Amino acid sequence: MLEGIIIKGISGFYYVEVQDTIYECKARGIFRKRNKTPLVGDRVSISIVDEEGKKGIVEEIHPRVSELVRPPVANINKVMITFSVKEPNPNFVLLDRFIVFSERENLDIVIVLSKTDLDESGEITKSIQEEFEKVGYKVLAVSTKTGENMEKVLEELEGCISVFAGQSGVGKSSIINYIAPGIDLATAEISQKLGRGKHTTRHAELFKIGKNAIIADTPGFSSFELNNIEVEELQEYFIEFEQYRTCKFGSKCIHKNEPACGIKQAVEDGNISKRRYESYLQILDEINNLKGKLKRNL
Ligand code: GDP
Repeated sequence: MLEGIIIKGISGFYYVEVQDTIYECKARGIFRKRNKTPLVGDRVSISIVDEEGKKGIVEEIHPRVSELVRPPVANINKVMITFSVKEPNPNFVLLDRFIVFSERENLDIVIVLSKTDLDESGEITKSIQEEFEKVGYKVLAVSTKTGENMEKVLEELEGCISVFAGQSGVGKSSIINYIAPGIDLATAEISQKLGRGKHTTRHAELFKIGKNAIIADTPGFSSFELNNIEVEELQEYFIEFEQYRTCKFGSKCIHKNEPACGIKQAVEDGNISKRRYESYLQILDEINNLKGKLKRNL
């Protein structure tokens, strides 16, 4: 048996890369019976049925480190959350939503602040970098125009299965093309241009770059949903809140209208960024609204 990784799945065929060779595999029926079908990103053992034709059978799926539902992809362990200093201007609430989603999925988070060449004074870059480093995230300020810190992006990707997340136009494809010229990523934007409907199955695909880095091209990663997050749970994904959760109402406190709230105090004292706190409130409201809607529809 050989061990490899599923890099692509198309209509019941799984393309398994084993040390630079790709085998076209079917999966054993047993997986379907157990309701555990292979996913792109799965590490698998395969048996070879035709060495010359490079055909095999997926015999075993190794335990997953992570599993994203939409798009369905296994074993992603890092997310490069990308947004630009300008063109488009930073959308911080969206950024914080990406962070919430990624924290919830237990992914390693790196914030990529792109197009720094457009920030002549460097002031915007500096303040954003400081804010997120204070929260506890690694921030890479990059530009594909000047090449600033692009080698660090590649370094971050080594040894991981990563995904680039971020709104359209922030420079994700440009960054990937810069570090891995020739890779042709079919991004979400392109899929939309092709008019793929909402209900079409979205495929994820993995690409190997450098020595040991894998990037997942995952159309749909940006369309994650908040509706299965609980109101009390949200605060866990604002990681800087943790040390200030000395609230009178303990874990019941959602840091909104409650008295003697440690988080509100920390915002007042300047220990938690006011902007991040406002993002938190906004996402909290969204979750509440979603829950309200769900109830009304029952
Ligand atoms: P994506 O939608 O996130 O994949 O963004 P693209 O990579 O398609 O980039 C969107 C636009 O931003 C394109 O016109 C790029 O030429 C431009 N762009 C990308 N990186 C940079 C950069 O570092 N500096 C500047 N000034 N423009 C960039």
